[in-house]
Amino acid sequence: MNLFAAWLAALATLLAILVVPLAMPSLRRALISKPLLLRFRRVMPRMSQTEREALEAGTVSFDGELFRGHPAWGQLLSIPKSKLTAEEQHFLDHEVETLCAMVSDWETTSVYKDLPPRAWQYIREHGFLGMVIPKAYGGLGFSAYAHSEVVTKLSTRCASVAVTVLVPNSLGPGELLLHYGTDAQKRHYLPRLARGIDIPCFALTNPQAGSDAAAIPDHGIVCYGEHDGARVLGLRVTWDKRYITLGPVATLLGLAFRAYDPDRLAGDCEDIGITCALIPTSHPGVEIGRRHMPLNAVFQNGPNSGRDVFIPMDWVIGGAAMLGKGWRMLMESLAAGRGISLPSSNTGMAKLAVRTTGAYARVRTQFKMPIGRFEGVEEALTRMGGNLYVMDAARTLTATLVDRGEKPSVLSGIAKLHITERGREIINDAMDIAGGKGICMGPSNFLGAAYMQMPVSITVEGANILTRSLIVFGQGAVRCHPFVLREMAATQERNRRKALRDFDAALFGHLRFAARNFLRTLALGVTGSHFVRVPDDVAPEARRYYQQATRISSSLALIADVAMATLGGALKRKEKISARLGDVLSQLYIASAMLKRYEDHGRPVTDQPLLAWAFHESVWRMQMALDGVLRNFPVRPVAWLLRFLVFPFGRREVPPSDRLGRRVAALLTAPNEARDRLTDGIYKTPNPNNPVGRMNALLPEVIAAEPVERKFLKASKSGELKGYDYAAQLADAEAKGVLSGAEAALLKRVRDVSFEFISVDDFDAADLAAGRRSKPTLRSVA
Ligand SMILES: Cc1cc2nc3c(=O)[nH]c(=O)nc-3n(C[C@H](O)[C@H](O)[C@H](O)COP(=O)(O)OP(=O)(O)OC[C@H]3O[C@@H](n4cnc5c(N)ncnc54)[C@H](O)[C@@H]3O)c2cc1C
Repeated sequence: MNLFAAWLAALATLLAILVVPLAMPSLRRALISKPLLLRFRRVMPRMSQTEREALEAGTVSFDGELFRGHPAWGQLLSIPKSKLTAEEQHFLDHEVETLCAMVSDWETTSVYKDLPPRAWQYIREHGFLGMVIPKAYGGLGFSAYAHSEVVTKLSTRCASVAVTVLVPNSLGPGELLLHYGTDAQKRHYLPRLARGIDIPCFALTNPQAGSDAAAIPDHGIVCYGEHDGARVLGLRVTWDKRYITLGPVATLLGLAFRAYDPDRLAGDCEDIGITCALIPTSHPGVEIGRRHMPLNAVFQNGPNSGRDVFIPMDWVIGGAAMLGKGWRMLMESLAAGRGISLPSSNTGMAKLAVRTTGAYARVRTQFKMPIGRFEGVEEALTRMGGNLYVMDAARTLTATLVDRGEKPSVLSGIAKLHITERGREIINDAMDIAGGKGICMGPSNFLGAAYMQMPVSITVEGANILTRSLIVFGQGAVRCHPFVLREMAATQERNRRKALRDFDAALFGHLRFAARNFLRTLALGVTGSHFVRVPDDVAPEARRYYQQATRISSSLALIADVAMATLGGALKRKEKISARLGDVLSQLYIASAMLKRYEDHGRPVTDQPLLAWAFHESVWRMQMALDGVLRNFPVRPVAWLLRFLVFPFGRREVPPSDRLGRRVAALLTAPNEARDRLTDGIYKTPNPNNPVGRMNALLPEVIAAEPVERKFLKASKSGELKGYDYAAQLADAEAKGVLSGAEAALLKRVRDVSFEFISVDDFDAADLAAGRRSKPTLRSVA
């Protein structure tokens, strides 16, 4: 008994030593926070202005919840569903429809190597270049969601026209002027951009600085010079840019360069920082170069340069007050624009691929069966359907957040990265299913242009490897974490008393947060997350999904903290660990977007296979990413402990089953409301130059003919039909009463019409060799 009392006393003393300092702020600051702050200050390099601005740019919304370990699902579900106004819907149904009818991938890439002149004129005259410019300046004043819908639809018709429209409406002079321009700049340029009088481009990339764009060597020296006959303060700018979209046809060049002020004419600093200016391309000294040829995508793209070109100070966006603020402007505009542009164009291309490939897999028969019935093809179709469900959900939620005033820097990176990656998977699967039909170019090829466009999407607006390895988790961990940014700010604070106070508050908040996640992760792991509370009003069939996502969010929060604590600054170089943690955050966002979509659409029963497949696949990806982090975590004892907490009973998630996959694939190969919802917004008017629309219109007839075809094939196989080809045997089947006259006519018609969709174009050899405008021919039915 005495021994037990002694043990108790010793334990109490130990606890007192540990807890009392924590309860006494002055003591804990002296004993814990101050030494730690000093150590952090020593190991953390001073952040440059550029780094700080990149980190602080944009806003945090539901990504903060996902990082917290216990997402407030009610908050996500309470965001109103995006809707188009009557005017936006009218624009989609009329102007966008008209533009779609004017262009085609084939004509732009092979005949004009550009948009047809009439399309250029229509785009400029009907406000396509100024969709996001407010009506007060003559623009269309559309929401981000409407902008996204327009780009999505255009991408289902012609990738080049979509790029031409999306660039001025995302990261370009219009967006920069709206947020940072002076009143005079807005009054002058916005109406001109809205009416298509000016065509803008934005030039950041230099041959020496692509991904590392903040390192551009392009520079502007503050000096006095002559402008409009007067001596004014301005900058002498030298630049060399490449890859600039719309550059070759632009009349207004948005230019990023680093400003220097050696004579202190504009302030008291020599290296002012990255600055953005607007320069008319007609200005003396501006060299608009020739054209690049981005993988035969043929939208206008090229280099431009200038040497010692004098520009007045009021050409700097926002005027002299915004000298050196260019990087922050770009980061914030990118945060919004990146969430709309490529997510929308890639979703459009994916919708096109899913709808057409689903139909093609039904129309195309081999081994006397529609190819979509073969399990191998079915597997690819399943992935296509599930991936598109993910893409459309993430695209829509991101646009909705932008419309709510968010500049989602982390989420827009996730949307860009994962929507383009899933888009690439879809197009690759579609190409495999289409076989030679996808490979031979010509007006009847409905996939080749999207396939060629894919690497462009992967590379621009933050190349995907970089975004995955460096940005998503790197920025997410700092921006979305409730305490890390505050801790970092405290280490950079010059006032030492304030620094200690702020650091202490953030550190102990952080420790409490980490302790909660530790306990929650263990509890959710042991109970399989079955007791997690979710809002009462979610769809009962999706309740379990919210519980699973909460468990993974908790694991992510815990591992992220441990990784930051044990690896510190080295985590930035451990890109494979960082990328996997980013994948978990990304998949959590994607899963949340799917759950929101399901609720927003009124929980359609017919969508359940899509949601179930896509959600399980996403959870499985998250599990494998977490497993990858733990397997490769450099501090092994820490990894063992984390594995015990995160996977107490091992990895329990499995990929979606084949049976579920079959239900998804079946949705793609027949007309139904789930397929219509999934591919909503596609250009499918069955006009003569739109094989996509006509193939879809044929699908019901193909399906109606299938039982008749089976009857015919059975008779043919039994040898009772005379003749050596289809036509002869069909005539014999009708003569012998195997098929009625109407049935034989149906089979003949379907075979005749579907021949167009399985045919490919061929060209005159001499024309091809000479690179001439050659007219393709599509072989008709023999
Ligand atoms: C068709 C097209 C249109 C474009 N339009 C414009 C435009 O309008 N305006 C404009 O200013 N620019 C534009 N760009 C430029 C575009 O933004 C750059 O191409 C992009 O930033 C990548 O730069 P890079 O091509 O030089 O690749 P690099 O920077 O050389 O990168 C090569 C590879 O290395 C990877 N990488 C680089 N650093 C890291 C890292 N730290 N960790 C992991 N991986 C890394 C990248 O992800 C990439 O995979 C366009 C480019 C193209 C091709």
